[in-house]
Amino acid sequence: MAFNMRATKNPMPTQAPEVRRHNFDEVAIGYTEEMAIDEAKRCMQCKNPGCVPGCPVHINIPAFIAQVAEGNFEEAYQIITQSSSLPAVCGRVCPQESQCEKNCIRAKMPVREKDPVTGKMEVKGMGEAVGIGRLERFVADYHRTHATPTTPEIKKNGHKVAVIGSGPSGLACAYDLAKEGYEVTIFEALHVAGGVLMYGIPEFRLPKAIVQNEVEGLKRMGVKILTDVVVGRSVTIDELMSEYGFEACFVGSGAGLPRFPGIPGENAKGVYSANEFLTRVNLMKAYQSTSATPIQHAKNVVVVGGGNVAMDALRTPLRLGAEHVTCVYRRGREELPARKEEIEHAEEEGVVFDLLTNPIEVIEDRSGSPSPRAADFNPNYGAVKAIKVQKQKLGEPDASGRRKPVPVSPEEDPNAIYEIPCDCFIVAIGTSPNPLIKQTTPGIETNPHGCLIVNEETNETTKDGVFAGGDAVTGAATVILAMGAGRKGAKYIDEYIKNKA
Ligand code: FAD
Ligand code: SF4
Repeated sequence: MAFNMRATKNPMPTQAPEVRRHNFDEVAIGYTEEMAIDEAKRCMQCKNPGCVPGCPVHINIPAFIAQVAEGNFEEAYQIITQSSSLPAVCGRVCPQESQCEKNCIRAKMPVREKDPVTGKMEVKGMGEAVGIGRLERFVADYHRTHATPTTPEIKKNGHKVAVIGSGPSGLACAYDLAKEGYEVTIFEALHVAGGVLMYGIPEFRLPKAIVQNEVEGLKRMGVKILTDVVVGRSVTIDELMSEYGFEACFVGSGAGLPRFPGIPGENAKGVYSANEFLTRVNLMKAYQSTSATPIQHAKNVVVVGGGNVAMDALRTPLRLGAEHVTCVYRRGREELPARKEEIEHAEEEGVVFDLLTNPIEVIEDRSGSPSPRAADFNPNYGAVKAIKVQKQKLGEPDASGRRKPVPVSPEEDPNAIYEIPCDCFIVAIGTSPNPLIKQTTPGIETNPHGCLIVNEETNETTKDGVFAGGDAVTGAATVILAMGAGRKGAKYIDEYIKNKA
């Protein structure tokens, strides 16, 4: 096969920024068949491919790309799904630039161009990695729209396993166990399965129909999904194992407990955690005019944080009609932890980045009276009207290895503290696991951050027969890591039950 030596990726077709900032349709439209084949031909089929060790679940990337280059899209899908059970999701949301694509040889090949003055060939920079994520997404979408959904014949082995939580870790664990013949029941606290994929990541980045397609596939394999069941409240893990006949449990309950900055005024009206704001919009469909879910349609929004959650919290209010949306982040652009593509998309849509700043106070509207009977009644009494922020500079590296932000004092800079007017403030500075499972399950231990402690090799918790993975163990991380942990949990649950039998 002749390789395509073009230095750059096929660009991803997207909705124009001025159009998409007013709708919830998916921003990226996806490659056509021709674009996918063309992009696949940029892969050099390396003998020692750097991309594969960069992928947390070690997809055989050159093998699937070789099939795409030949137009064998279904074969490519079969190769990907040997390692990943959620390719349509991962192709859309994985941070490929810091994983598989980071190690792609095409990103390390110098681009030479003739200098117009000297006439000599000179290095003008590096090429771009093969668009591995874009190809993964293409292949998964091709399969979804072309293959007929099938109901696999699986011989049941008579053993029952409970999975707590239906995010990527729980779904992946259930999938692998069901394939082995286990009777799997997923217990989900919310009314819809999918975890963050349903309640957190917005429709414009990950259409919910794609997630539900994966959930339907699991149901066809015989997995039972019981929604509106909060394990630890409706039923405990001990009851599941002693009274309901489950021989093992996998806890994939995520890290949904929001952290707040602990600054004066943060309980004001109009202050949301990113999780609450996004859940109202995504899961409860507050953006649809037919939805009964209340949501603030603010004009000026400030979001604190710089990760993927913050980017979603910034771009969502724009689509609800906000005129000014500002990201406040205490480090610089280089340190923004969100995916590069999400930062670029947010900027194109009009989000303003106020970097090296940190909120120090939420200023409430205290004018007039809160009483509707008073002549000077102010319906906005107690609502946020501005965020006071303080400029930061970067000091020595902290425990995370990133340079620590240090406040700039008013003595150093008279403009170090200032206010950003707003009528909505969204906090996206991190989350931790909900303590409910730990509080209601004797024998389960957590670390000081509230994350479940597991045996690193087997993902078994400190309680016999109870395994765990995903954000509940690592703290807030990524979809692919959660999915990998779910698969590992399934492997060792299978071993655990077989050894007991
Ligand atoms: P979750 O997806 O959190 O699922 C846990 C599930 O367990 C939830 O459905 C919850 O309701 C349920 N549950 C909790 N407690 C109980 C209980 N007691 N009983 C029953 N059910 C319970 N990652 C990326 O890789 N790329 C991205 O672009 C990206 N963007 C993100 C954007 C947002 C807004 C958020 C919030 C996260 C994002 N992430 C992203 C992170 C990623 O989504 C998570 O790392 C991943 O979903 C974790 O999977 P999980 O299965 O561990 O948990
Ligand atoms: Fe292809 Fe890049 Fe992987 Fe090499 S490193 S096999 S070029 S995707």
